[in-house]
Amino acid sequence: MPFSDFYKRTITVTRIFGIPIRCDYRWFVVFFLSVWLIAMNLARGGMWVGQVKLLPVSITAAWILGVITTIGLFLSVLGHELSHALMGRAEGIEIEEIVLHPFGGLARLRNEPESPRAEFRIAVAGPAASFLFSLISFVLMLPTMLAGYTAAGGVLLLLCAGNLLLAVFNLFPGYPLDGGRVLRAILWRRTGDMKQATRLAGMCGMLIAAILIIFGVYMVIAPSFRSYLMGFWSVLVGLFLFDAAYRQVKDVRGRVQYIVKEAMSAPFAVEPDLLISQLIDSVLPMHRQVAFPVALNQRLHGILSLEDLKTLPRERWHLTKARDVMRPIAPRFFVEPSAKLDYARELMKRNGIGSVAVVGKNGELVGFLQSGRFKRKKRSNRAAS
Ligand SMILES: [Zn+2]
Repeated sequence: MPFSDFYKRTITVTRIFGIPIRCDYRWFVVFFLSVWLIAMNLARGGMWVGQVKLLPVSITAAWILGVITTIGLFLSVLGHELSHALMGRAEGIEIEEIVLHPFGGLARLRNEPESPRAEFRIAVAGPAASFLFSLISFVLMLPTMLAGYTAAGGVLLLLCAGNLLLAVFNLFPGYPLDGGRVLRAILWRRTGDMKQATRLAGMCGMLIAAILIIFGVYMVIAPSFRSYLMGFWSVLVGLFLFDAAYRQVKDVRGRVQYIVKEAMSAPFAVEPDLLISQLIDSVLPMHRQVAFPVALNQRLHGILSLEDLKTLPRERWHLTKARDVMRPIAPRFFVEPSAKLDYARELMKRNGIGSVAVVGKNGELVGFLQSGRFKRKKRSNRAAS
């Protein structure tokens, strides 16, 4: 396995409200770096957070506080993303996963919001949660400090500042930041043109990213600043954002919408009266598919998923027909040849069988699609632009 792939592989840490929380290995590096940075600063003679100076503590205490604060910041990012995800779910969008990466997190939605209003709500939910966490930390901090628990107060102060930063930074109006999504929602609503709105929000994102990079370089070389770590971090975040924003802009410009007809394979159907024993003995060795359309005279009756056969005892194979175990035809099991491939992909992800039948205007079976196995026919008649 190449090194880069190892780093890209995500592991599922836990599930919250049924949403898988994943992170990749780079994230552990950042976790350690954060603990180390906070611990070193605290031990070395106090740490400035805004106008407040945290008193220096012993080295052991510094490490413990570093771990607690980092976990707190990690939970803050998670809470921010979870807020996006739950708002998305409230808007009727399924949530694929939440990924924590070195530069924060990402709530991956199964599909794009369908209206500017939904987009706006989902985008705003994250920073709103961060503002709330910041406020809670602040409210808890005051009595903690006054009671003399300065270490605990210090942790709360860092969480207050961290969450505030998370909220404010994310509201910068450029894609892929939340502010960029808000901007996109507003432009989309004003003009009704989602593509144009996406492009503009992406370009604003590229501009913000460029400013971050320039600012980062300035922090490293300017004699008055000389803040290497902050500078490098700023450059890294800038590059990361630039890449995402650029891809968004490019995506809108050059996106080719494939249709089902261009990707489907010729249908291989089994007859409703085919015995399962025959299917296993003679059909399966020849046709390695996870599901088969069940059709008679080109008319689709249902879909037979091998997954459904797992519960069927072996001794019943020669008594059971395809029609007995197939899933009867339903809208989620077929598409028209002219449907968009993206739509078919969504359907395959959600219908539980990882495939869809392609049915023509007169109800005849004309093709079959299995997820991950598309025939990409070249569009030779498409002029290059
Ligand atoms: Zn966010």
